[in-house]
Amino acid sequence: MHRILIIEDEQDIADLVGFNLQRAGYEVLKAHDGISGTDIALRERPDLIVLDLMLPGRDGFAVFRELRRDPRGANIPVIMLTARAQTEDRIQGLQTGADDYLTKPFSPKELVLRVQAILKRTESSPGSVDFTLGPFRFDKNAVKFYLNDEPLELTSTEFKLLLYFCERAGKPQDRNDVLRSVFGYSDSANSRTLDTHMKRIRHKLGDYGSWIATVRNIGYKIDQPEA
Ligand code: CA
Repeated sequence: MHRILIIEDEQDIADLVGFNLQRAGYEVLKAHDGISGTDIALRERPDLIVLDLMLPGRDGFAVFRELRRDPRGANIPVIMLTARAQTEDRIQGLQTGADDYLTKPFSPKELVLRVQAILKRTESSPGSVDFTLGPFRFDKNAVKFYLNDEPLELTSTEFKLLLYFCERAGKPQDRNDVLRSVFGYSDSANSRTLDTHMKRIRHKLGDYGSWIATVRNIGYKIDQPEA
């Protein structure tokens, strides 16, 4: 279950938002000033924070900066709330790097939708280190490859090669560019090595091996067939 921290001094708003988030299936934590809000955020590390800007003790911008400076809070998505519909607040909010921004009065349903959207986004790309193409998923941090959510053993070179083509899907890639990028240099010996690697990758991908096409006189490309 996802946990959401609401940092909001206005009790009725905190309650209304909390109620709606709980009803949508979230666990809710609350803080009513900036200092305890920062403490709870860093201690509990919620999945998302709804942060009011006008707060006693420490305002929302200061809380946000504090969170982003601390490794425990740096990656927690934040939705900012403010009563002031002024443009400069909006601009400042987005410039500081908040994930989203709502101006009061807002509909609690709208807030729930935004929360769901952000959590979905962060789930599918944890730390933006994942790359996905159809049934292929690359965890760049762990150098792990998944085919239809099943781990598939690739060597690190095979991983790099497949990722290189998938990130450029649909476009033929010149073999010399591939070699320079993946192996660091290009020569004829490596060119043959490339063909060997590509053959192995095709084999490992089974039915999906046919996605890799040899492009005569150029190199290779990966194409995701039309569904
Ligand atoms: Ca407030």
